[in-house]
Amino acid sequence: MKAIILFGAPGAGKGTIAEGIKAASPFIHISTGDMLREAVKQGTAVGREAEAYMKRGELVPDATIIRIVEERLDKGGKDDAYMFDGFPRTDAQARLLDESLARRGARLDVVFQLAAPRELLMARLTGRRVCRKCGASYHTINIPPKREGVCDRCGGELYQRPDDQESTILKRLDVYDQQTQGLIQYYAKRGVLVTVDSARPRQDTVAEILRYVQRPAGS
Ligand code: AMP
Repeated sequence: MKAIILFGAPGAGKGTIAEGIKAASPFIHISTGDMLREAVKQGTAVGREAEAYMKRGELVPDATIIRIVEERLDKGGKDDAYMFDGFPRTDAQARLLDESLARRGARLDVVFQLAAPRELLMARLTGRRVCRKCGASYHTINIPPKREGVCDRCGGELYQRPDDQESTILKRLDVYDQQTQGLIQYYAKRGVLVTVDSARPRQDTVAEILRYVQRPAGS
């Protein structure tokens, strides 16, 4: 089992960059944000618990996050390669991920920190629109759909995520800064942290990450 982490503030492009990596590699994409949104949609126990935290832009408790990730990893095989997106977000989650990987005879390969200035993050998030049906992501200015409010891919309705309102975005960016400083140091000390510029066009960031993950072992 192989594992990488995509680490970045809301709006750094984790989701779209993960899509690009997935299309060109065997990595299985594990996004805790997507899993939680799906749980909310389905009205499961996890979804009912998570919804209020998500609406406020706060982190969902560690125990819940760890449980959904463990359940997902339990379904996988030993040769799987995982790309975590939006996880871990706290020191406790990072420690538990290490333990969980060790139990499965695996370890973390690289943690990619996606870096972009705050003004760009704000602009990306306030303009983001997501398809209610298939989850495809658009932007009112940068990636507009062909017909306003309608998904190009499946014809579904485009909506603004409730946590993409400006006041909640500011809160999410602050939460990210506070909660993740320790994590960045934790991974930097272990020598697995690689910072990539994600203010560039998405395909450039994807290409840089693929060069790292596809390099021959030991180089
Ligand atoms: P995201 O789509 O990654 O921006 O996540 C959306 C929201 O889901 C966050 O603002 C949190 O409320 C919650 N969430 C997602 N991943 C985690 C995590 N690893 N730990 C705690 N909360 C999370």
